[in-house]
Amino acid sequence: MSNKFIPYGHQYIEKDDIDEVLKVLRSDWITQGPKVKEFEDVLCKYTGAKYAVCVCNATAALHLACIVAGINIGDEVITPPITFVATANSIIYCGGTPVFADIQADTVNVDPVEIKKKINKKTKAIIPVHFAGHPCDLEEIYEIAGKHNLVVIEDASHALGAEYRGSKIGSCKYSDMTVFSFHPVKLITTGEGGAILTNRKDLYEKLLILRNHGITKDKSKLISVNKLTDGDWYYEMQDLGFNYRLTDFQCAMGINQLKKLDSFIKKRKEIVDIYNSAFSNNNNFILPIERPEIKSAWHIYYLRLINNQNRLGLFNYLRKKNIGCQIHYILVYFQPYYTRKFGYGGGLCPKAEKYYKQTITIPLFPGMKEADVSYVINSIKEFEYE
Ligand SMILES: *Cc1c(COP(=O)(O)O)cnc(C)c1O
Repeated sequence: MSNKFIPYGHQYIEKDDIDEVLKVLRSDWITQGPKVKEFEDVLCKYTGAKYAVCVCNATAALHLACIVAGINIGDEVITPPITFVATANSIIYCGGTPVFADIQADTVNVDPVEIKKKINKKTKAIIPVHFAGHPCDLEEIYEIAGKHNLVVIEDASHALGAEYRGSKIGSCKYSDMTVFSFHPVKLITTGEGGAILTNRKDLYEKLLILRNHGITKDKSKLISVNKLTDGDWYYEMQDLGFNYRLTDFQCAMGINQLKKLDSFIKKRKEIVDIYNSAFSNNNNFILPIERPEIKSAWHIYYLRLINNQNRLGLFNYLRKKNIGCQIHYILVYFQPYYTRKFGYGGGLCPKAEKYYKQTITIPLFPGMKEADVSYVINSIKEFEYE
């Protein structure tokens, strides 16, 4: 029996990450200095997107993405119920209504067929989520969006480093914007942090300004007549923005972490392969899949109990054994705020509801020790399911 708690996810920080942070802390610019643009540039280089805007977390990134997508009071935005609440909350921040579309039973991602059913005159955008790091059917979703003039914002909080039909997630080949999270349990970390990627210059320029109170100092963009008489101190607040900036020392860490992303994913995949072979001949479970046309970032590893056989018992048993299992996720529309505000209830997305009852997330992170992987596997195998 291991006494050390094994979390479901964990950051991987080494001396060189810390050294990069310290270098910035000893410099003159600890925020709004050169590292922000440098991090944005390497994110573009890695994903293939034209523009990147770093912000203080992915929730802020989703919020800004919804603003520049034009989401407003009365608008509807389609999103899956199996996600973290932040995805849907960003729609409500803008006065919009989240409309939940059911998932595909195999990938647990939002189903394009279900998206189509939810489109009406009020629909403005779609926010698909690459659940567990497995990319959605982006091409199909983008085609639907094109027919109805909808904006597509990928919530790729789980999927930095994933690939879809030959391109990296974040390339925005089949979307208007892609959002990443750099929270410690995600693929790379800056402590807190997020980014929005896009190929559209118009969106990029708006995002830059909104990240910093809606203020611009760019002389070519000034709109007031005062610019004719005022000096170099002059800046303009042209929109109601926020302070959603990311610091330079966080960006320094992000730059260094991004260099290791591929090796992190390789390590995750090795553990996934061990899990898959350990559980494949076990008729208690449905295992997560990886479709041939994609490469998952393997943010989390979830098992599904075929007949929901005693999931609560398994969860409590693993926790007692210091294994930090989790459930991803409680359906967003079952949250009290959502049931109260929108009147959503059971039966809205039957496949998602079925999945929720079956699923349990077990530990997966790049620094996971071989002995811990074996301990998790043996503990799961020893549990009495019936
Ligand atoms: C983590 C996460 C977020 C929020 O990310 P933060 O950086 O913590 O704000 C949003 N959506 C999904 C799917 C996430 O997993």
